[in-house]
Amino acid sequence: MTLLSVRDLTVHHGQLRAVDGVSLSVDEGEVLAIIGANGAGKSTLLRALAGLNAPSSGTVELAGRDITRMPAHRRVVAGVALVPEGRRLFRSLTVEENLLAGAYRGRPGPWTMAAVLELFPWMAERRGQNAGQLSGGEQQAVAIGRALLSNPDLLLIDELSLGLAPVVVRRIYEVLPGIVGAGTTALIVEQDVSQAMRVADRVHCLLEGRSVLQGRPAELTGEQVEHAYFGIG
Ligand code: ATP
Repeated sequence: MTLLSVRDLTVHHGQLRAVDGVSLSVDEGEVLAIIGANGAGKSTLLRALAGLNAPSSGTVELAGRDITRMPAHRRVVAGVALVPEGRRLFRSLTVEENLLAGAYRGRPGPWTMAAVLELFPWMAERRGQNAGQLSGGEQQAVAIGRALLSNPDLLLIDELSLGLAPVVVRRIYEVLPGIVGAGTTALIVEQDVSQAMRVADRVHCLLEGRSVLQGRPAELTGEQVEHAYFGIG
């Protein structure tokens, strides 16, 4: 079943059409990766889905419900959670306090504190530590845990692997099947194309705000992806 349906979405930053008529859909239980070069509009799209950037036109439906104009805090209750670019943790609060911040406006569901600590076992020992003392990868894991604690149907992760060592990225992606297995659908912005092709059921490439290519990794050639990414041909 379709969980997210985006139709002809346009988002401006001033005069710039950062997202330009994008349509996409995500099925329940799917992992969709958004790829594209710097400035392609990936973050703007994700922030629009989270209610942080207002679209100028187009519609966003979640499980058939129009949420295009719904404010961000109500989208959390409706089942959308964002892991923002740069993680945005409260650095002087503990790991546990950061995680609990996600539960604040959230919904009941499978993602309890215990379930998140099972997903990332190292967090249990470090729950009393300030988030600012964690490595980038650990902070990303806490940001994901925080989002999960709101029990989203749709988890949006912006720039999952940006600035992280490959081994750290691999460890974070290892938990994705557990997240999706618990009934959460994931929409990920991933600037590392080969990583996106490995982990996603489908990829969607943006170029200068427009949707230029989409499909299952196995069905797309490297050449198609390269051309879409760089805008060749
Ligand atoms: P990156 O990987 O660099 O984050 P991106 O694909 O996520 O790129 P966006 O951050 O969505 O792209 O940016 C799309 C376009 O909108 C870029 O040209 C960017 O400069 C511009 N832009 C983004 N945010 C703003 C803003 N707050 N005000 C003005 N322009 C913006």
